[in-house]
Amino acid sequence: MRYSRFFLPTLKEVPAEAEIISHKLLLRAGMIRKLASGLYSYLPLGLRSLRKIEGIIREEMNRAGAQEVLLPLVQPAELWQESGRWDRYGKELLRLKDRHQRAYGLGPTHEEVITDLVRREVKSYRDLPLNLYQIQTKFRDEIRPRFGLMRGREFIMKDAYSFDVDDEALEETYQAMYQAYCRIFERCGLNFRPVEADTGSIGGHASHEFMVLADTGEDQIACCTSCDYAANVELAEVIHPSDHPDVRPSRPMTKVNTPGRRSVREVTEFLGISSDQLVKTLILIGDGRPVVALLRGDHELNEVKLRRSLGLEDLDLADSDTVQRITGAPIGFAGPVGLPGDLKIIADQDLFDLTDFVTGANEVDAHYTGVNWDRDVPRPEFADIRFITEKDPCPRCGGEIELRRGIEVGHIFKLGTKYSEAMGATYLDADGRERPIVMGCYGIGVGRTLAAAIEQNHDRNGIVFPRHIAPFEVIISPLNVKDALIVEAAEDIYNGLMAQGIETLLDDRRERPGVKFKDADLIGIPLRITVGKRLKEKNEVEIMDRATGKTISVPRDRAVEKTSEML
Ligand code: ATP
Ligand code: MG
Repeated sequence: MRYSRFFLPTLKEVPAEAEIISHKLLLRAGMIRKLASGLYSYLPLGLRSLRKIEGIIREEMNRAGAQEVLLPLVQPAELWQESGRWDRYGKELLRLKDRHQRAYGLGPTHEEVITDLVRREVKSYRDLPLNLYQIQTKFRDEIRPRFGLMRGREFIMKDAYSFDVDDEALEETYQAMYQAYCRIFERCGLNFRPVEADTGSIGGHASHEFMVLADTGEDQIACCTSCDYAANVELAEVIHPSDHPDVRPSRPMTKVNTPGRRSVREVTEFLGISSDQLVKTLILIGDGRPVVALLRGDHELNEVKLRRSLGLEDLDLADSDTVQRITGAPIGFAGPVGLPGDLKIIADQDLFDLTDFVTGANEVDAHYTGVNWDRDVPRPEFADIRFITEKDPCPRCGGEIELRRGIEVGHIFKLGTKYSEAMGATYLDADGRERPIVMGCYGIGVGRTLAAAIEQNHDRNGIVFPRHIAPFEVIISPLNVKDALIVEAAEDIYNGLMAQGIETLLDDRRERPGVKFKDADLIGIPLRITVGKRLKEKNEVEIMDRATGKTISVPRDRAVEKTSEML
């Protein structure tokens, strides 16, 4: 490709709309442009990288035995009603009507559509296993689209769905997909970790997320520094010692005045206690009913764990009116003492051995001190409902836990029979009995993977593309396009590289060397061949490695050979 003819509008200035580095660089390198909130156009350079990632995904999916299909973006409401998700999915599902007033959704994911396809075609155990994937546009009306391609509303996803006869067969498929995912992200040149994960609104039993490690990641993961345990903090288990110390109340329960002191900090400072002596009380609404969660003042409620331990579909903090109605006091003064007996109360397991603690008194401007289980409050149900911290041991080996940030680029689930049962996708087994098909689903955010790769691979001059996903492998920079010798050498090398199938960008613009170098660095092509002064002096060109900055000089007629060696 000749740069002078290439649609590559690079920017010198950092666009104001971009907060994180990958978004800034994608815009500056002329790879994407914003159309509207969460909607982006890929320009030629961005699309080339995107296609590289898709190519890697395709190869690995095909190798793992999956077959490519392409499903419609527009999906009939009836299918979503059958699975029960039409009402449950929420506002991320963009709903629309056609001219006949029939309802549709813009596909945020394709479990319903693929299950419908398979239930019509698959009859017998002989038709299984089956694994189908597509690389296609999804639409999710995200509440906060941001960070460019990281969280768009319209975005490109690879989604695969597997169909097996039983759990054992699904396990095998799942492992094959797990391995394929590891190879995909390795080939993309990413530093990533597979982590245990929550299954969210897609549902199912077991899942792993593939996290690219980066400080700007929206997810937090707990990694063990000794073993290979890694989990999303939404899920990471907190181990509670099983032996209970023999502890007894030593103080009477006393009501104290705490005027205007609501937050953990305000109350603990006012009473001169440490935050692990305070029990904070959160009022939530789970599937329409109030739930009270109790935690130590220095711990954070993990809503995913609470939702899972109560088997709830959805869970949200209650608004101030609800808190007032349930506890009789405004937010900040709730406590477990004297709450109605039929209220669902669940305490974090770390509160089990706590004595003489402080809680709200369900009265404005008042707290209780010296509160104890059994004597003052019936023992509620205890469970692990808080976030793991770096002070907690690894739940697998007892080692040290390190919290890191990650970008979720892929997610694999064992769905089981959730969709096949709801939608009647069955097969006949060898004995002629009808059984539900056992499913799995496997997603990769293709655009997000591109953004994550840049997030992890850049320096202050621009992108440093991992070789296999770079839009071009080589850029040739002839430094003076008015000099016939230089132009001729650059063209020769360009033709030589192209003949070998090496994707090359020839910077044939009438620009100063500084401009060419800046743009080459910005767009992050792995190798740059400079044709300039050295050619006239010694008949040599320079090859620079973008990642290391290391430069070597080679005779002009060995440039093609040396470049292909370096790739
Ligand atoms: P998140 O928690 O980030 O919203 P998710 O759990 O909703 O992700 P899945 O439904 O598992 O994501 O989708 C599969 C993959 O699609 C994700 O792993 C991610 O890489 C990508 N993805 C999801 N939502 C978006 C989005 N809004 N923009 C870009 N990529 C996305
Ligand atoms: Mg999401």
